[in-house]
Amino acid sequence: MSEKSIFSRILDGEIPSDILYEDDLCFVIKDIAPKAPTHLLLIPKQEIPRLSDASEEDQALLGHLMLVAGKVAEAAGIGDAFRLIVNNGEGAGQTVFHLHLHILGNMKMAEGSLGF
Ligand code: 5GP
Repeated sequence: MSEKSIFSRILDGEIPSDILYEDDLCFVIKDIAPKAPTHLLLIPKQEIPRLSDASEEDQALLGHLMLVAGKVAEAAGIGDAFRLIVNNGEGAGQTVFHLHLHILGNMKMAEGSLGF
């Protein structure tokens, strides 16, 4: 592996950020530049650069992230209304190439649409 990602450096305590949740496979921090009143990042410890780089071997991990997202949203008080976003690739706005799920809540969401 080349250089550690910024998220791995946070996990290793090299860059300060409160870790709000952690288990064997993933961890959660607040986004440094929130795009919604609640904006969390759920990050697998394994450095998969993009969702499209994940493989069959990562299936259990990806499922785990979904389940944790729901639990973290619940704990953050947005369990009934949250949005998960994964930006895949530069063209989609990805800036950190270590897979992460944005968990967004307490924002005004367009009804029944992708409205973001
Ligand atoms: P992306 O654009 O790759 O989907 O999302 C990367 C996110 O990471 C951005 O929303 C950005 O604000 C956040 N971010 C970048 N650097 C840091 C950092 O050092 N600490 C935290 N907490 N968030 C970061």
